[in-house]
Amino acid sequence: KTDVMKKELIDKWIRPEIRAINAYPVPDPGRLIKLDAMENPYTLPPELLEEWLDALRDVPLNRYPDAKARHLTDRLRATMDVPAGMDLLLGNGSDEIIQMLALALGGPGRTVLAPEPGFVMYRMIATFTGMDYVGVPLQEEDFGLNRDAMLKGIDQHQPAIVYLAYPNNPTGNLFDPEDMVAIIEAAPGLVVVDEAYHAFAEQSFMGRLGEWDNLLVMRTVSKLGLAGLRLGFLAGPREWIGELDKVRLPYNINVLTQVSGEFALSHMGVLDEQTARIREERGRLASALGGIEGVTPCPSAANFILFRVADDADAVFAGLQARGVLIKNLNPAGGALSGCLRVTVGTPEENEAFLAALRESLG
Ligand code: PMP
Repeated sequence: KTDVMKKELIDKWIRPEIRAINAYPVPDPGRLIKLDAMENPYTLPPELLEEWLDALRDVPLNRYPDAKARHLTDRLRATMDVPAGMDLLLGNGSDEIIQMLALALGGPGRTVLAPEPGFVMYRMIATFTGMDYVGVPLQEEDFGLNRDAMLKGIDQHQPAIVYLAYPNNPTGNLFDPEDMVAIIEAAPGLVVVDEAYHAFAEQSFMGRLGEWDNLLVMRTVSKLGLAGLRLGFLAGPREWIGELDKVRLPYNINVLTQVSGEFALSHMGVLDEQTARIREERGRLASALGGIEGVTPCPSAANFILFRVADDADAVFAGLQARGVLIKNLNPAGGALSGCLRVTVGTPEENEAFLAALRESLG
């Protein structure tokens, strides 16, 4: 009886659009080789570990963190090419920044627009906050922006926020910057260029902040080797950041993240060296994938590669898992991603293990 009552209460009070979705899926990797989440496979080198632990020893856990995370903000400003005069908003991962944007600009009757396939949290957070979401299909042949469709969507839906991931997830490509400029100029509201994978690409819109009143640039340290810290930031004009800061929960960046982030970013050379290794490995992995019959990799400017298999992708994914390798199966998303899997670039050994398992799984 209580089960029936619970169901009634849930149906009555949990909003239908929340009941209709599934939680963001995070599989338990167990002992699998973990190439599913765009993590950097390298940890801090042993000689830095002691120094890091020393920095943590002095952290007072009884006090709230610095609400403005000043030292960390200064360090991000210095290491992430933020133009002078631009302000920063820090989040518990860039996910929290997407949520803050929705809290400040969202609500019923407000729209988020983004190209698809794209990062799923843009849609999910729009749903959480009662916003409408419009996905505009990318070009089928190369996952480039469909400029006309984007401009038409913007004209029709007048979105409060447009997201452009640069490079894009899960496709890995960089969009044509001229298409992006046309979108920024046509958008009535904010355009957020999401540079989560910036460390693996040459291009950026960071240096162009200030050229347009409605441009903001978002980054994260997650793909740099600091995914465990949960730290992202949004850079942009003071006026926007000041308004967005009002919906930020007090003390959203905890003391351990503040101290560890500042420490790790003060050794940016180490992280740069790791990302350079990953970029090199990406090239090797892409050519190896391209050499396997029935496998078509997409060009990537990120730390992962999307590839299409001629075989049943679900079976290939299961075969990889049975051989100890976890990647991401995008086949269930269907549409443009039918037959697609996504692998994060790991260490040379991990990539070799993945390639061997893939060859076997292809039967
Ligand atoms: N943007 C894009 C395009 C992503 O792929 C991701 C992570 N998958 C994020 C943002 C979120 O990153 P985080 O919350 O770890 O900063």
